[in-house]
Amino acid sequence: MSETETETAAPKEEWEILIYPDKRLRIKSEPVTEVTDAIRRKGLALMDLMHQARGIGLAAPQVGWHVQILAINLSGKRQDGLVFLNPKIVSTSKATFTASEMCLSVPGISGKIERPREATITSMNFDGELNEFKLDGLLARCFLHEYDHLEGVLFIDRLSSAKKLSIKKKLKRLGGPE
Ligand code: ZN
Repeated sequence: MSETETETAAPKEEWEILIYPDKRLRIKSEPVTEVTDAIRRKGLALMDLMHQARGIGLAAPQVGWHVQILAINLSGKRQDGLVFLNPKIVSTSKATFTASEMCLSVPGISGKIERPREATITSMNFDGELNEFKLDGLLARCFLHEYDHLEGVLFIDRLSSAKKLSIKKKLKRLGGPE
């Protein structure tokens, strides 16, 4: 390689998923100001890491990258992966449903959480276009869980106080409560 040719291969992201009670999980994320190649590359890297970890969702702050980016993939098939940039909640349904949730940042813990059945959201894509989507069921739940991460909120914050008490030992084992 001559001196004028520089290495063009994209560097791999040396990310690892932050684990509760890591304080960086509590930092609010900043919006994406411009969709650059670096943002696209890192957005896709976030999706790759989610696949590797066999998660159905991963938010950028979970790897210590405090920008408003989420990756979601309910099926686990690569072609079904979704990346949301600067997601915003427009409205949520009054109707709710309760289901068990887990989080890659809180390993070994699951708990039932009540969330809206539907959510209308806006989000930007990799071309910088803003779109509105109506999400329901598991997709709405997953989106709202990941969106919480952008605000520094974890699903365990939303558990009932009885449930919080019952997982106290497990949280202690992870190093919490904060
Ligand atoms: Zn999570």
